[in-house]
Amino acid sequence: MNKEGIIIAVDGFSACGKSTLAKQLALALGYTYIDTGAMYRAVTYFFLREQLDWNDEKSVQEALTSIQIDFRREEDGSLHTYLNGEDVEKYIRTMEVSESVSPVATISAVRRFLVKQQQALGEKKSCILDGRDIGTIVFPKAGLKIFLTADPEERARRRLKELLEKGQSVSLAEVAKNLTERDHIDSTREDSPLRQAEDAVIIDNTVLSPEEQLAMIKTLAEMRGA
Ligand code: C5P
Repeated sequence: MNKEGIIIAVDGFSACGKSTLAKQLALALGYTYIDTGAMYRAVTYFFLREQLDWNDEKSVQEALTSIQIDFRREEDGSLHTYLNGEDVEKYIRTMEVSESVSPVATISAVRRFLVKQQQALGEKKSCILDGRDIGTIVFPKAGLKIFLTADPEERARRRLKELLEKGQSVSLAEVAKNLTERDHIDSTREDSPLRQAEDAVIIDNTVLSPEEQLAMIKTLAEMRGA
């Protein structure tokens, strides 16, 4: 067994269950989980809060110098995103942030800023990152690359359930529209668009239970040295 472990990249469309899978797999393997989407969301939340004009390159560059993101484990075991020392977990999952995050994620300066941090976080191996460009740009040599996909209606239903459980008032139509828009922007942007890496294992989990999916990918990861 490779004591160092491997890097596992989980990419795919919005609301395909990437983070659920990555969290469960990290727990099962004793790996570190890095939610790269949360990092883009935290930057977006900062820009919105500061009412920053993100079309202005200079303002973006300046703002990035005052952003520090980290993840901390809470007493209940959940992982929260911190922005400049403040727990922003509940603010970054709102529809307001979801509606602006994909445009913000097209900005190359933002991507460079976050990719550098993601690469530093993954340097120690034994980690799982989920996002859109992990297997293609952030860790093109990852030991295992998974590309998740699921039926769009099923994805919208799953995301709606999550948001309602968090007490947000939102409709299925709004969620579905947001997912379609994000997928479109994420797949067509110029800088590191969402693509499946050539060597990724593609999994459509529309009819797979989370348990079946986890068992399958854990076996794959172990075969690759995790
Ligand atoms: O993973 P999540 O849905 O929270 O990601 C929010 C958004 O952040 C995505 O729709 C995408 O625009 C952006 N993102 C990205 N690259 C990543 C992770 C997320 O562009 N590696």
